[in-house]
Amino acid sequence: MTNNRCYWWFRGCAFILLGTVVLVSCGGQQDQASSTTEAETAEAVPEPSLKLYVFDCGRLRFDTVTNFGINDDETEVRELVVPCYVVDHPAGRLLWDGGLPSSVKLNEEEKDENGWVGNAKLEYTLAEQLVRAELGFDLSSGLDYMAFSHIHYDHVGVANEISGATWLVQRGDYEAAFADPITVPAVQPELLTNLRDADRLILDGDHDVFGDGRVRLISAPGHTPGHQVLFVDLDWTGPLVLSGDLYHFRISRDDRRVPVFNVDPEMTLQSMDKVEAFVAEQEAMFWIEHDLELFETLQMSPRYYE
Ligand SMILES: [Zn+2]
Repeated sequence: MTNNRCYWWFRGCAFILLGTVVLVSCGGQQDQASSTTEAETAEAVPEPSLKLYVFDCGRLRFDTVTNFGINDDETEVRELVVPCYVVDHPAGRLLWDGGLPSSVKLNEEEKDENGWVGNAKLEYTLAEQLVRAELGFDLSSGLDYMAFSHIHYDHVGVANEISGATWLVQRGDYEAAFADPITVPAVQPELLTNLRDADRLILDGDHDVFGDGRVRLISAPGHTPGHQVLFVDLDWTGPLVLSGDLYHFRISRDDRRVPVFNVDPEMTLQSMDKVEAFVAEQEAMFWIEHDLELFETLQMSPRYYE
């Protein structure tokens, strides 16, 4: 019996040894294969790509949508998303739209049991989302430019938290931001105080942010005096236009509905014509920023579009 046990013990060891040799051998081949791939990758250094990050900067809800020029029976949508975006270009970084004020998240006392403060809700501030995404920049460093589609409170919420970025603003909104008294509805001057001292580029029309045509502000006034939309020409995703508040709902675009609180209805329609012609010419995708149903299909930071 002792001899038999020794025999099986020896056979077992031999199998294990053989297995180890095979494993080591396979491991070696894998290492070789991966190092070849790395070498090939290193030889063909890709161009730094243009990236678009999407952030969830809140929700708005409405009992009625008649203020948007829509009858209540024409859409069932009563909740809008409030997004923020960062465009990461090889030559610099642009924040596009600043979402709801961080106070909506941080002021616990005002929240109801579901986290709403009035008709607004913010689960995580943009600053918190940037920390969590570990993108290597935050609101106080690493942003070169900030541009808001317009100065309404749900688009400039983090403006006072940003430092070191140049504000790209259309003249109409620049003047309206600091008018006394405020003449544009839905503007909260206290959200704009730090912009008084920010470096700024006051624009009188379309603007090519990085000079290569890939990130462009398109002037589209009417919602506010200096409303604008953003064009981003992404390599893989393709050309894309972010709507600002040119439209809030899908029916707004389909039927050219103008909100009752727009400062200039006729100018709004002209801006719709201009932007739609641009979208067609570029064969661009078009994202209605406030469209929650669309937003829920998007990939959030730290993932990105390129
Ligand atoms: Zn809005």
